[in-house]
Amino acid sequence: MTHRVAIVGAGPSGFYAADGLMRTNPDLHIDIIDRLPTPHGLIRAGVAPDHQGTKAVARQFDRLLARPDVRFAGNIEVGRDLSWDELTTGYDAIIVATGMVIDKKLGVPGEELPHVWGSWRFVGWLNGHPDFRQGPDLGKVKSVAVIGNGNVALDVARVLAKSADEMAKSDIVPEAGAAIAAAPLTDIHVIGRRGPEHASFTNNELAEMGRLTRAVAVTEPKGLDAAPPASDPTPERLRKIKNLEILRGFANNKAGTKPVTVHFRFHAAALAFKPGVVEFTPNTLKGGKLPADLVVTCIGYGGEEFPKREDVFPVGWAKRGPTGTIPTNRAESHAVAQQVLAWLDERDPKSGPDVLPIAVDAAGWHRIDKHEIAAGAAKGRPRVKLTDWQALLDVAQGG
Ligand code: NAP
Repeated sequence: MTHRVAIVGAGPSGFYAADGLMRTNPDLHIDIIDRLPTPHGLIRAGVAPDHQGTKAVARQFDRLLARPDVRFAGNIEVGRDLSWDELTTGYDAIIVATGMVIDKKLGVPGEELPHVWGSWRFVGWLNGHPDFRQGPDLGKVKSVAVIGNGNVALDVARVLAKSADEMAKSDIVPEAGAAIAAAPLTDIHVIGRRGPEHASFTNNELAEMGRLTRAVAVTEPKGLDAAPPASDPTPERLRKIKNLEILRGFANNKAGTKPVTVHFRFHAAALAFKPGVVEFTPNTLKGGKLPADLVVTCIGYGGEEFPKREDVFPVGWAKRGPTGTIPTNRAESHAVAQQVLAWLDERDPKSGPDVLPIAVDAAGWHRIDKHEIAAGAAKGRPRVKLTDWQALLDVAQGG
């Protein structure tokens, strides 16, 4: 008898946990369960569609699915198709890698208006997530407010700012790509509630904003001589110093010299959203207002509840909150895998029946993958995603 481990959530932290388990104990039986018919979590639904280099790690994850004792079980929602109790009966340990999939709210008036979008939903639309097939109406969108100073805010601003040519090798869903290309966009405002010395952009991502063909990045020189907090650890200080240097470069640019201008604005906390306008704390932006036909809030995420028991081990964002890049998860998930192995070492394997309902398995996923890659090849793209839930299931089942 071998131990059985369920990993709930087939995103990067779940796959890295499986990798950590298999490296030490290749005899384990591992089931990687996801509510979507497709694996890869944030790699597929969160990483921006033009960052294909980051998405390439998915190939490593697929190699794990080829192992005889690792099963993929897609289209299974724990809590709906299988209870947490059933899971705990059927498995010796459960790793929760469900990430964070709920947009954090600012809690200001007007947040429920149709032109105000949370980044999870917006990026899900760009990335073909089957829950978010309907995007915003960009037909009359000239000015966009992107709230937040993290990499997600940069992803959103960059994908909106790039030309159709710059997006040609991406896997953005065609409807979203076409809507962005056709929008009368002229201004994108990336807005931080604190100063530039606190922004959590990473250097490469910020610098990329200065290399766009259809957009120029600009900012006010005021405040760019600020020093990062002395209490920050050295790598953080160095990152922020470099960000300030990049922003000083943007301050030399002129708005309007390319079709789209990306304005980096600081010290502005949104107070209210009204149709076409964002109101800010007084004395920050000129007049305390900005025109915005679309608002995308990129201010972090919340997660869903899961049982807290000693045989349940959270990893990734479900464990530590929505911070860190994809590679951050590797070492952390490997460390949790070691905790799981130590826990299993002290217990005999359970001998109950297989509790997993019929699901989209690895072969089903490979059929979806092949279908999407073939659809992409016809258009010179890495893939064209299936976004309709039933179409995903039909293709997975060989239809
Ligand atoms: P983040 O880096 O934590 O940034 C969140 C931003 O939201 C911060 O600027 C924060 O400002 C702001 N914010 C939070 N609450 C707010 C409020 N109530 N009002 C106004 N602003 C508010 O998170 P993220 O951008 O969502 O990214 C999540 C993680 O994924 C990060 O670790 C990021 O680096 C990573 N990621 C990486 C990439 C990449 O490597 N290319 C791409 C996307 C995401 P304060 O600082 O003032 O709190």
